[in-house]
Amino acid sequence: MFKSLEIVAMKVTWNETVCIHAGKCVAGSPDVFKIEDGKFKIDLAAGDEGQVRNTVAECPSGALQIDED
Ligand code: SF4
Repeated sequence: MFKSLEIVAMKVTWNETVCIHAGKCVAGSPDVFKIEDGKFKIDLAAGDEGQVRNTVAECPSGALQIDED
């Protein structure tokens, strides 16, 4: 018996110089996009892919981008 497993590799990048600090990412996916010790962190493992994609799409500056492998 064969099983198939599809693993989608998703990478989110953040361009600090483009970010306008509107906070939509932190508000939209607070488990994934967070400020810790004054630094911006992205924890993809803590989030739902669809929610992350929606949040990235709502970034007003384009600082967040999704790279597909
Ligand atoms: S949503 Fe985009 S512009 Fe706003 S804080 Fe996040 S990365 Fe920066």
